[in-house]
Amino acid sequence: MPILVVGSVALDDVETPFGRREGALGGAAVYFGLAASYFTEVRLVGVVGRDFPESHMELLASRGIDLAGLQVVDGKTFRWGGKYGYDFNARDTTFTDLGAFAGFDPQIPERFRKTPYVLLANIDPRLQLDVLEQVERPEIAGLDTMNYWIERTPEELRAVLARVDILLINDSEVRQLADEPILLKAAARILDMGPEILVAKKGEDGAVVFSREEIFAVPGLPLDSIIDPTGAGDSFAGGFMGYLAATGDRSPEGIRRATIYGSTMGSLCCEAFSTEKLVDLAPHEIEDRFQEYKRLTHFEHAPILLNA
Ligand code: AMP
Repeated sequence: MPILVVGSVALDDVETPFGRREGALGGAAVYFGLAASYFTEVRLVGVVGRDFPESHMELLASRGIDLAGLQVVDGKTFRWGGKYGYDFNARDTTFTDLGAFAGFDPQIPERFRKTPYVLLANIDPRLQLDVLEQVERPEIAGLDTMNYWIERTPEELRAVLARVDILLINDSEVRQLADEPILLKAAARILDMGPEILVAKKGEDGAVVFSREEIFAVPGLPLDSIIDPTGAGDSFAGGFMGYLAATGDRSPEGIRRATIYGSTMGSLCCEAFSTEKLVDLAPHEIEDRFQEYKRLTHFEHAPILLNA
């Protein structure tokens, strides 16, 4: 089943303790689309300026991403700058130049309108609602957002939440959205707002997935090398939704596997700058990483006599 993603396509200036890149391919829709492209067919809707390099277009197309919904307009491509120290969970946004993204008016091409899986990446909730108006009710709609929209457009965000099936946000955003410090209670509140599944991402520390049936948690996999964590959250979403779209399996077991594929794509993303790692992964690299998560989290219970 194909997936439609609507969101930012960017040129990123990123600095980490291991180096820097300027004008690197980035944006939430890009990371999501590349990660999901290993699982299923991806359709992308976004906007760039005329400065967006042809080589970036070619790279996205080389992963089979359908760019019919990528508008190229007068003006500059959205540019974002991020700087990391050794704590990769803490990032400074050095600048945000919206450029053409400021006037983004998503137009869903006719042939994308019946896409069964849709991911609304982090954009203005009013635009997310507009996208939902343009498409036929998808089988599964996923949503990302950020503190900016939680604070500034709470009503519109609630309206989108009521219409989506999966919400994927950071644990701090879960607490903020629910106005509740205890993650478990916050998750229960959010599930009452509409989504069936809530994925609370915890950066380097893994993720917790809540549904009415169960809670599943995956730890962070200690990595040999972390070069640039930019886009890890969007790559997680790409692996998670990509697996669901490829299999249609929304059973509790399927959601667990989707969580591991999400973590797999998020962790692989961190191993190189920008999208460099995500562009030519071999299938065995994805499967090997999945197995590493399995080994990391597996244990047997052996009863012992406890002192009581
Ligand atoms: P993540 O590391 O998952 O938060 O995603 C980082 C990506 O999000 C970068 O490639 C940025 O270009 C993009 N980004 C940063 N700020 C925004 C924003 N306000 N709206 C949409 N995309 C953004």
